[in-house]
Amino acid sequence: YAARAGLAGLEFLIGIPGTIGGGLRMNAGAYGTEFRDITIRAHGVDRKGQTVSATPDEMGMAYRHSDAPADWIFTHATFRAVAGDKAAIKTRMKEIVASRGDAQPRGVRTGGSTFANPPGAKAWQEIDAAGCRGLMVGGAQVSEKHCNFLINTGGASAHDIETLGETVRARVAARGGPALRWEIRRVGQEGGTPARTKNTSGAKNISGAADTSRSPGTTGRTGV
Ligand SMILES: Cc1cc2nc3c(=O)[nH]c(=O)nc-3n(C[C@H](O)[C@H](O)[C@H](O)COP(=O)(O)OP(=O)(O)OC[C@H]3O[C@@H](n4cnc5c(N)ncnc54)[C@H](O)[C@@H]3O)c2cc1C
Repeated sequence: YAARAGLAGLEFLIGIPGTIGGGLRMNAGAYGTEFRDITIRAHGVDRKGQTVSATPDEMGMAYRHSDAPADWIFTHATFRAVAGDKAAIKTRMKEIVASRGDAQPRGVRTGGSTFANPPGAKAWQEIDAAGCRGLMVGGAQVSEKHCNFLINTGGASAHDIETLGETVRARVAARGGPALRWEIRRVGQEGGTPARTKNTSGAKNISGAADTSRSPGTTGRTGV
């Protein structure tokens, strides 16, 4: 819509799957722009049925984070854009799609970036340096293409995904790296089926859970 209407500044949204509500909650972003940069005001309703609204500052929107009360359900928002050339907007969108295709796994089951980038560092580089590229727990695997993506290779359980993520965190910390913060929001009850060890040609396997601060349970994000 924005491209057809000649509205520039929203191009980064092309590669981020999800809804406006999820994007506001997560302060989703890519290619140097995030929801807080384009949001004028978000509107919603709370659990009592009262309408609510706030600006990005009032909601404490920061890197992949919002302080909006947990019971707020966003229903709509007003965004900022600038007049732009339609062809240039479409070109930029195509560039972003192509760039994502080069850097990220396509056609796989993934929740996207698993961990937020630590201040001054890239999560994928820390994961790679810790030797976790291709690491597997059951049916869950650290992407060979982009180390910050965890992939369900077929039959991964939520427990597999979460155990793999916690193992990655532990290995990064063990080599003196930063504490990785889950960007994926994990929901549901703790506990689950134990991780399975499976030998896959060329892939590294581990068994059992790493040192975790939270027992692996259900990992939730659309697409996992
Ligand atoms: C392949 C892939 C690539 C991705 N690339 C990026 C990227 O480049 N940048 C990035 O930031 N993210 C990226 N993500 C993550 C994801 O797209 C974003 O986090 C997105 O904002 C999630 O939106 P959603 O609607 O799916 O929300 P969900 O994942 O369903 O929910 C996320 C959170 O928002 C809350 N929420 C959802 N809807 C509402 C609502 N209406 N009101 C209030 N709270 C709500 C949920 O309760 C949950 O806490 C990627 C994911 C995938 C699978």
